[in-house]
Amino acid sequence: MADIIQLLPESIANQIAAGEVIQRPASVVKELLENAVDAGSTFIQLVIKDSGKTLIQVVDDGKGMSETDARMSFERHATSKIREANDLFSIKTMGFRGEALASIASIAHVEMKTKPENQEMGTHLVIHGSVLKKQNVCPLNKGTTISIKNLFYNVPARRKFLKSDPVELRHIVEEFKRVALANPETSFTMVHNEMEVFHLNHGGMRKRIVGVFGKNFNEMLVPVEENTDIIKIKGYIGKPEIAKKNKKDQYLFVNHRFVKSNYLNHAIKLAFGDLIQKEDYPFYVINLDIDPAKIDINIHPTKTEIKFEEERLIYQYLKVTTQHALGKYNVVPTLDFQTTDRFNNIPHRNTSTPSQSAQTFKSNVNSESSKKDAQEINEWSQLYNEMGQEASNLYDEQQMLRIPSSLDKPSPRRSRNVDILETKKPYQIHNTFIISPIKSGYITIHQQHAHERILYEQYLEALDSQDATIQKQLFPINLHLNHEQTETMMLIIPTIQKMGFEIEHFGDHNFIINGIPALMQQVDISSMINELIEQYQANIELELGIHENVARSIAKSSCIKRGKPLTSEEMNSLISDLFSCEIPFISPGGKKCFIEVELNELEKQF
Ligand code: ADP
Ligand code: MG
Repeated sequence: MADIIQLLPESIANQIAAGEVIQRPASVVKELLENAVDAGSTFIQLVIKDSGKTLIQVVDDGKGMSETDARMSFERHATSKIREANDLFSIKTMGFRGEALASIASIAHVEMKTKPENQEMGTHLVIHGSVLKKQNVCPLNKGTTISIKNLFYNVPARRKFLKSDPVELRHIVEEFKRVALANPETSFTMVHNEMEVFHLNHGGMRKRIVGVFGKNFNEMLVPVEENTDIIKIKGYIGKPEIAKKNKKDQYLFVNHRFVKSNYLNHAIKLAFGDLIQKEDYPFYVINLDIDPAKIDINIHPTKTEIKFEEERLIYQYLKVTTQHALGKYNVVPTLDFQTTDRFNNIPHRNTSTPSQSAQTFKSNVNSESSKKDAQEINEWSQLYNEMGQEASNLYDEQQMLRIPSSLDKPSPRRSRNVDILETKKPYQIHNTFIISPIKSGYITIHQQHAHERILYEQYLEALDSQDATIQKQLFPINLHLNHEQTETMMLIIPTIQKMGFEIEHFGDHNFIINGIPALMQQVDISSMINELIEQYQANIELELGIHENVARSIAKSSCIKRGKPLTSEEMNSLISDLFSCEIPFISPGGKKCFIEVELNELEKQF
């Protein structure tokens, strides 16, 4: 048989490598910003067109490159950051694998202009799909400007799988935030489609956090700091009030590199204890300085996962330092962290491998939290839960209660079956569930899910009919949003106006609210708007379209929450509104609004 194995041409090898490093425009942004940081820049500008699909440009004032280096930088495994294997254990730069530029150049049109300080003239290069198209000498300022156009032009499969512009932009903003938060001493700006999204002057970490997240955050920050031989911890945690339902605003950096670590995130969450709800995630921006020899960042091409030699110890330090910070700023007045030595409880240097210690720890955490869970459920509610669970299992088995997906058409048969006995008073338990008898047995309604469904349908209707009723505010409310929130708000203003908001933009990041939809019950308007925007951003990934997304987000942010006591009238109107809905069975997010228990099934339980 003839020999069939060949070496891949360099350009194909680069494209394959690009598949790992460059998944979407945001990955290019990350690599270019990190290169600019590594070049010692003091000012870095990111310019984006069409969410990076048309242009991604990074302008820096860093050390620039000589003509030869400029050419070399596009070769695979070409790096100035390490020279020998040992250097892998003392990495202080963001890059070191020497594959980003080669990868990017293999799947895009790239233009680079660069000049080091000590040279008269700079270099201008144009590369299309790994092929050098143009090279000349030209007068330039010190630093590097690199422009990436038509990303994935020669990889149609990749281009096709890019998400909508808002989704890709959100990923880019996320990468930008990570680099900007990790490097507060560098000034950054970001411009998208000619509009400035961020303008961040250099300064300390607090200033940077406020620049990124908005002025309101200033009072919400609690400093966290600790220096030990092994680790230096420095950053800010957010007061419990700004904890969120998602992990988006948790920024952990190791030697100024953003890292993902569920394990260490858990340490911080645990430190908050009962200050936040179980399903909430605290806000934080924390940098850990650790000897590079004690970590391994080379385990993943995008370098966001990291191995620590002393993971368990770091976990403890982080937890105790966070607890101490919360205690010191009186966020936890009942806890006493001022013991003689607050690191008393930290285990001694441990010799087990990080993965071993992580495992033992995790199992402890599980058993601890399940014990706590068990305590929290009182007997009554346990009985209730079991009952409900069994009942709904039975229904599933008998195919009686089929929960339709949100796309299913409403089932008139089902709606008829739920025949509320209006003369009977509904009953609320745990300020969350409403129990109401029906002819065939009883239903238990989840007040939050149900109200979310009701509002969602009502807001969509208001949008369709274009005649929303407005409740005027006695005193207009001023709203100051951050850059990102402003972008979202500008996008959704026409839609929320149709739903009954009287809201105007008056310059920069300021808005004024004169009226809110009549549908809206007593709510804290500013926090509702913040939640609305946050929810809208979280839903972007679902590609619902603006109307649908806004209706869902408003419903979620303004509905009656679990834990709110309701009067009989309120419960009755909630029940009748729910069963006037087109799809009463599930919330817009897909959660059951009620469960039904039939008498004969109830009988069987006894
Ligand atoms: P890495 O960052 O892993 O070294 P890259 O492919 O990202 O690999 O970059 C290759 C080399 O090009 C870098 O090591 C650096 O020497 C040079 N380089 C890239 N971007 C810049 C920049 N903005 N300013 C100065 N040098 C740069
Ligand atoms: Mg790099």
